Amino acid sequence: MRAALGATAVAAGAAWTAPALAAVAAPACEALRIQRRLDATAAPRGVALTFDDGPHPQGTPAVLEILASRGARATFFLVGEQVERDPGLAREIAAAGHAVALHGHRHRNLLRVAPRALAGDLDRGVAVIERATGAHVTRYRPPYGVFSAAGLVLARRRGWQPTLWSRWGRDWRRRTTPARIAATAVTGLVAGDVLLLHDADHYSAPGSWRRTVAALPMILDAIADRGLYAVAI
Ligand SMILES: [Zn+2]
Repeated sequence: MRAALGATAVAAGAAWTAPALAAVAAPACEALRIQRRLDATAAPRGVALTFDDGPHPQGTPAVLEILASRGARATFFLVGEQVERDPGLAREIAAAGHAVALHGHRHRNLLRVAPRALAGDLDRGVAVIERATGAHVTRYRPPYGVFSAAGLVLARRRGWQPTLWSRWGRDWRRRTTPARIAATAVTGLVAGDVLLLHDADHYSAPGSWRRTVAALPMILDAIADRGLYAVAI
């Protein structure tokens, strides 16, 4: 059973790094109770904006400013080692009414971390985030969207909802533009989508957050044009 779960989790993770296999990932996520869309009854016209890899000294304040100007709410999947560098910035995210969640203490692929080391990483990360923000963490998204069997078990034991996404802007890439990020994120966007973006370039192409920040107003416009609104989860 353990081996079977591991194989499925690995397949789901691999699928998310290869968009062509996304059709395989959706049923796998459902079977593993990994959330990738919103509950329609909770927010019928809602879209969940999520930002991974922060906080970032420039990217996060820029994203917060745009969200505030639009009255939009989002969820920030924080990295513990980045929160340690700037706990005040993590606190600002929560103080602005956004949700904070765990992305790990270090940004490592779960398939390369032994279960015992992973438990230590998750516990350290959540302690750092909760101490800095005063918020209670209830969600977990692993680096690269790749779950291991151990990662799923550890997250559930701690009461965290494993969460991936249904759409992305592919904003971590070196060769992209704000217009392309926005188009990728909103083409076919519907209520209930969970959208993956990044407010930091700690683990992606240098300066990538600048393109995300430039794309964000276009994405929020498209959400509003469809009669939808951004929610925190
Ligand atoms: Zn990440």
